[in-house]
Formats: sequence, structure tokens, C-alpha cells
Amino acid sequence: MLHYSCDMCKRPIDTCCEARHVVKIDVFQAVDDSSDGCGEADDFDHLDDVQELLQRIDEQDLEMLEDEVARTLRFDLCDACRRAFLKNPLGAKSPKSLNFSNN
Ligand SMILES: [Zn+2]
Repeated sequence: MLHYSCDMCKRPIDTCCEARHVVKIDVFQAVDDSSDGCGEADDFDHLDDVQELLQRIDEQDLEMLEDEVARTLRFDLCDACRRAFLKNPLGAKSPKSLNFSNN
């Protein structure tokens, strides 16, 4: 039987009596073509090129490529941590809790 633990609180998740939640975060460089005023037909050509490229490179190369330009993060969360995560997905601290010079 697979054993899971919450990536936030490190508590084991007993999947037979509580829900396990998976958080996947894709981090990748945005491609912004808005400055280029070309027609839509060019986009189709570009997509063909990308597909051809993906077919040519093997899986290992693809992994290296993805590591450079994109990252997918995956976390298992218990129900309590899922709720906490959704309230503050980026873990940003509120300005009130910042203590720059409290000495
Ligand atoms: Zn948790």
C-alpha cells in the first residue's frame, strides 16, 4: 500500500479515512507575442514547427529542455493544509507580519 504524507505539515495522510489533495504548479516562461502584429496564420505554422521539434527530440532531451524553461511542482496535501494553501497559494506574508527592523 502506498504511503503518503502531507508536504506542508509532514503529517502522514491516511488515505482510507481522509482525502489526499494534490497540488500541481507549472512554472514556465510566458511567451508574449502581443508586440508582434502578425496574422493568425503564422501561429499555425509555428505550432507545426513545435510539434515537429517535439517529435524529433527524445524523452531525455525533453526533460532537460523542460528543466530549463519549465518546472512542474507537485505536492501532496492533507485537507487542512489544502485549505491553508488555497487561502495563500504563494505563501506571501501580509505586510503586517513583516518585521524589518524590530530591534
Ligand atoms: Zn498537512
